[in-house]
Amino acid sequence: MKYYITTAIDYVNAKPHIGHAFEKVQADVLARYHRALGDDTYFLTGSDENSLKNVQAAKKAGIPINDFVDQNAQYFIDLKKILNLSFDSFIRTTEKRHFDGASKLWSAFKKEDIYKKDYQGFYCVGCEEFKTEKDLVDGCCPEHNTKPELIEEENYFFRLSNYQNELLELIEKNVIEITPDFRKNEIVSFIKGGLEDFSISRSRKRAENWGVPVPGDDDQIMYVWIDALSNYITALDYSTDGELFQKYWVNGDKRIHVIGKGILRFHAVYWPAMLLSSGIFAPLQVASHEYLTINGQKMSKSLGNIIDPDELTNRYGVDATRYLLISALPQNSDGDISWEKMDEKFTSDLANNLGNLVQRAISMMDRYSIKIPRSTSSGEGIDFSIAEEMEKTDTAGALKKIMSLAEIANKYIAEKQPWVLAKEGKTEELTQVLLRVYTDLINIARALLPFMPETAEKMQKQLMTLEPEPLFPRLES
Ligand SMILES: [Zn+2]
Repeated sequence: MKYYITTAIDYVNAKPHIGHAFEKVQADVLARYHRALGDDTYFLTGSDENSLKNVQAAKKAGIPINDFVDQNAQYFIDLKKILNLSFDSFIRTTEKRHFDGASKLWSAFKKEDIYKKDYQGFYCVGCEEFKTEKDLVDGCCPEHNTKPELIEEENYFFRLSNYQNELLELIEKNVIEITPDFRKNEIVSFIKGGLEDFSISRSRKRAENWGVPVPGDDDQIMYVWIDALSNYITALDYSTDGELFQKYWVNGDKRIHVIGKGILRFHAVYWPAMLLSSGIFAPLQVASHEYLTINGQKMSKSLGNIIDPDELTNRYGVDATRYLLISALPQNSDGDISWEKMDEKFTSDLANNLGNLVQRAISMMDRYSIKIPRSTSSGEGIDFSIAEEMEKTDTAGALKKIMSLAEIANKYIAEKQPWVLAKEGKTEELTQVLLRVYTDLINIARALLPFMPETAEKMQKQLMTLEPEPLFPRLES
């Protein structure tokens, strides 16, 4: 199977925080899982650099915009090493391949879908989106708590209303698959409420001369979301109809966009409509995740509660950080973290449940000279699969299932008391018990591979050599 997976591309107006880290890790887990299944997998991430937000942040920092985006994009590229991500490509929307591809896509839109008109509306720069009365709470953007700006100008518009019925049908038939279900329902009712045409350009002046020019109209710059969404194909060399585009987009089997709930409409409505209009629509999955909060509060600069991803990896190590992020965010609701909670979880789930299990079991196998099977194919042991959770992109659910296996194996050891069997000379039963635990550990290691790649490898090695070493050293207080 040819599997194509992407994350949202991030504004580079600030450094990445653990919300960004969560999303990259989640997509990485899915990519590694599919590679382990033998799927031909391509994993893309990147940075959204053409936004007005970036221009404003650069001004504030007193740095030329080009240097500013170069510098900040690097922080996002560096996440690869910090979080052990396995992405195949990183697209920056200031690259030529992106500009060329975004222009090609615009030019491919059906002529009847694009029109120009005078427009007046409230624009939130934080969201990079026009807001309607319905979207606002007490006149403010609920996402940013700021009053949007009143903008009046002549823009190009996209006739989204042309696609209302088609989109609805594609979503209801899961050709555009939205996970989880409650987010799908939300989009269905949004579409049923009536789709309004939306502005897809801005004046060069308002864009501060930054962004992708509208083909054939020098006074207009593409609305940042129009260019940003096209990254999913420009990174595959859509502009030259390249091999990657043919392989993973046109002839691919699965295309999946991992995104946060705040930008679901862009991915489940606007983006498919753009693809339909340009004649390159292909079935999609849009995997929406909820938000991480810190001590019950939204992460924000003004609250000063932002945590850098490398603060986590410095304290817990890379794999444990991946574990803590994924397990903190259930699929159907926001997930809250705090240093206390993370410390506690590290100790109970990783050091005690998993770490102790591996160390105890391997020590016993060694002590009682258990002959371990040469092949590591699963024999008798706990029968399980995380396939269903993973197809639904419920990574937290899958991880929980895997960790419950470690719990079951711990209980099994406590109940069978191999040390008593050894004392009583019940060699056959002792061997059987420890071989079953061995199989469980092999299965756990295999299932953990996409989540904690280094830990899974260490487990497999220790199971081969029967030389236990602590997987999760105790935390410093
Ligand atoms: Zn906003």
